[in-house]
Amino acid sequence: MSEIQKPVRVRFAPSPTGYLHVGGARTAIYNYFFAKATGGTFYLRIEDTDRKRYNEEALKDLMRDLKWLGLQWDEGPGVEKDCGPYFQSERLDIYHREIKKLLDSGDAYYCFCTEERLNQVRAEQEKSGTSITGYDRHCRNISREEAEARIAAGEKAVIRLKVPEQGITSFDDKIRGHIEYQNELLDDLVLIKRDGFPTYHFASVVDDHLMGTTHVLRGDEWISSTPKHMLLYKAFGWEPPVWCHLPVILAAGGGKLSKRKGAASVGDFRDLGYLPETLVNFLALLGWNPGDDREIMSVQEMIDSFTLERINPKAVAFDEKKLQWMNGQHIHLCDDSFLVQVLKEGLQAKGIDFSASSEERLLEIVKLLKPRTHFLQDLSEMADYFFKEPESFDEKGQRKHWGEGSRKIASAVCDAMRSVENFTTPEIEKAFLDLANTRQCKLGELVGAVRLAVSGVTAGPGLWELFEVVGKETVIQRIEKALPLMQE
Ligand code: GLU
Repeated sequence: MSEIQKPVRVRFAPSPTGYLHVGGARTAIYNYFFAKATGGTFYLRIEDTDRKRYNEEALKDLMRDLKWLGLQWDEGPGVEKDCGPYFQSERLDIYHREIKKLLDSGDAYYCFCTEERLNQVRAEQEKSGTSITGYDRHCRNISREEAEARIAAGEKAVIRLKVPEQGITSFDDKIRGHIEYQNELLDDLVLIKRDGFPTYHFASVVDDHLMGTTHVLRGDEWISSTPKHMLLYKAFGWEPPVWCHLPVILAAGGGKLSKRKGAASVGDFRDLGYLPETLVNFLALLGWNPGDDREIMSVQEMIDSFTLERINPKAVAFDEKKLQWMNGQHIHLCDDSFLVQVLKEGLQAKGIDFSASSEERLLEIVKLLKPRTHFLQDLSEMADYFFKEPESFDEKGQRKHWGEGSRKIASAVCDAMRSVENFTTPEIEKAFLDLANTRQCKLGELVGAVRLAVSGVTAGPGLWELFEVVGKETVIQRIEKALPLMQE
């Protein structure tokens, strides 16, 4: 098959039946990147011909999630251009016009077989153990006139493709290489259903052609549909697109990634506190690499390095640990003013009053907490003690830091803090160093008890910085208040 040299036109063609799975999101990402990398067009087509499974909510969520990921389509719902409508359910007249061509050429035929008959055929095939299964082509030789007369008389029919009984259908997949299927193993697939709606196969091929799709990038699970699509392109006399079937994404422990095994949809990950930048970066690297060992990349950097040649055919595992790490990395790259906003929203949701804190103070807090943040909500979760007294003290911490002798140490630190006039990080640090010197002890011995007293927890940002932001009065007050809880 010749490589298409036209400007790239690619699509994401979801069926709005459920949430946007990360596998679907990765397909959308690769299509988007490929369009942007080549100056082409990325369009969104809604494959909503399965009316039984159609779900209005799913459609709304899908579009919201794509936008949240930053995958704005150049054409599609809301961005109507010449190739619309972009909802397949609004294109029925087009499918009826196109199917007529195949009926006229004899490549398609009406089939009147009932569900019961098809079940019976299947049962017999199973009993006889034949390797050729599927529809037995019972209605293939009904003449067009007879078929139309029966339909006019009220009989219901589907329209099927006349698949050649022998030979091979092959195609070159850009990622998987040359693939061949024996025609005798392919069914005379249904193109138009009894309800007049097209099947996925028919609508997809007609639309990919009429909408000028140059490359089809889709999940590996569609590969067995591709010979059927090739037969349709042949029957119509159309040039097929370049096929690119993307590797399967497996759950960490093997098997399919599913809700049962944890988060699997874009919405799940958003709710967990992941940034869209992280998800796009992470999903892009599931099956593709930039040609070097870069991992943390912006969308533009990925687009600049994106080629189909670097998509790997091998299945890839979804490593949530790595995703978490990546989120931390992307949070570090975030604008501080954005994180201040996130912090404020988080505090508000927790009912913590921060009205006494200036923007500057909030910014300081964000800067302190940022290096320890893996999820957006970590910010407000870790920030309590900057705004209010700890309600409790970490129990393990109490055993470790408030044992024998701790009260004396904390009390000495408290005195040292009282004497710091200019309560800034360097001055606080100096006071600690002086105290360690005087007491002939290690610095580490001075910090545990007071950190717990001031913050309620044992881990956090550097203590001098933390003290500065909490403020002199508060630091002293909190240590004094905790002293009776410490052993002498
Ligand atoms: N509507 C199909 C889906 O839900 C599209 C498959 C394809 O890209 O051809 O994924």
